[in-house]
Amino acid sequence: MNEIKAPKGTRDIFSPEIRKWHFLENAIHTYYRKFLYQEIRTPIFEHSELFSRGIGSETEVVQKEMYTFSDKSDRSLTLRPENTASVVRAAIENNLFEAIAPLRFYYIGPMFRYDKPQKGRYRQFQQFGIEVFADDSPQVDAEVIFSAIDFLKKLKIEDIRLDLNSVGCPQCRPAYLQVLRKAARAEGDRFCADCRRKIDGNPLRIFDCKQPGCMEVAGRLPLIHDHLCAACRDHFAAVREALSWMNVSFQINPRLVRGLDYYTKTAFEVTSGQLGAQNALLGGGRYNNLIQELGGPDMAGIGFAAGMERIILHLEHLGTPAPKVLFVAYQEPQWLPHAVQMAQVLREEGYPVYVDYQAKNLKKQFKRADRVGAAFTLILAEDEIQSGSVSIKDMASQEQIKISLKDLNEWLKKNY
Ligand SMILES: [Zn+2]
Ligand SMILES: [Zn+2]
Repeated sequence: MNEIKAPKGTRDIFSPEIRKWHFLENAIHTYYRKFLYQEIRTPIFEHSELFSRGIGSETEVVQKEMYTFSDKSDRSLTLRPENTASVVRAAIENNLFEAIAPLRFYYIGPMFRYDKPQKGRYRQFQQFGIEVFADDSPQVDAEVIFSAIDFLKKLKIEDIRLDLNSVGCPQCRPAYLQVLRKAARAEGDRFCADCRRKIDGNPLRIFDCKQPGCMEVAGRLPLIHDHLCAACRDHFAAVREALSWMNVSFQINPRLVRGLDYYTKTAFEVTSGQLGAQNALLGGGRYNNLIQELGGPDMAGIGFAAGMERIILHLEHLGTPAPKVLFVAYQEPQWLPHAVQMAQVLREEGYPVYVDYQAKNLKKQFKRADRVGAAFTLILAEDEIQSGSVSIKDMASQEQIKISLKDLNEWLKKNY
């Protein structure tokens, strides 16, 4: 029979890599609780409309990358390509705006995009992210950005770069888009077919194009930076000032527009050059219209999403030690019950303990102890059972000692 493989763009994660995931997930839970974020878990699939309305029907994500399907009742459902729209939907549906304060959420989970798979990039990928609702202070923007950078630094990720921009608001963006469209039309044929299509839809998307020809022409286009309204300019200045209080350095990148339609004012992206070329680790920004757009109150929002596969790649050098195993061995099958009971006691104490039920002699059990990475093998034989003691073999040094059972706990505390 043909072997069944995992679908393209998906992968299995297991030991030892899984330990890095546990490490990262624990770090997220611990870190974001310090800022009063609460975890939220939303469904992996939603009504397709949530994303076409939330992310924008003109975007690359919605047009090309979504896993959309009809269920047996002919509903159009989509595997979530990102989580901000879902968190906003959940907050509206459960009326969390009144129930939870402060309105700060973090999430960890799989997202799905029909994208070209490459190193560190999958069709099912893990993101973690945070969202803050109902706070339009520029200092919150700075705190959100600070937390992202500080978190990555605490993971010992190096060569971190922060790109920052303001993408304007409904007061100033329409006028800028007119100017941009006009300038883009004047360049006409110099753009790729994809970009020409964007001119009438959302010309900001032109800045996302990676075609060298388009990038060159885009370099001459007018920038939102020079067309911000007073409110956006003040907000942006205050964000930069607060970042300086927090000791966060940044680069203004006027071409940073981000791929999703819902951003207003602050937009940012964090990359690391640790693995050679600059790699995007996370991106986010403010989305002051999204909540109302999705049927909620007129309320500000800001957040970011981070690619966990990319972060894991940067954790390669950290390594996470395997747990030290205690292996309980028995010389004759008749001592197996003693071994089982000793294992139970040791697990209660918190140690990872393994008993081999298959191996019938000590030699085979020692072999197995090496396979499972045992640090110590505790041996029960007639002599030990009679005298109320246990022999302990240090698997690294091969040294063996015998101690009284009542001293075992003390010995482990010193030597484990
Ligand atoms: Zn504005
Ligand atoms: Zn192009």
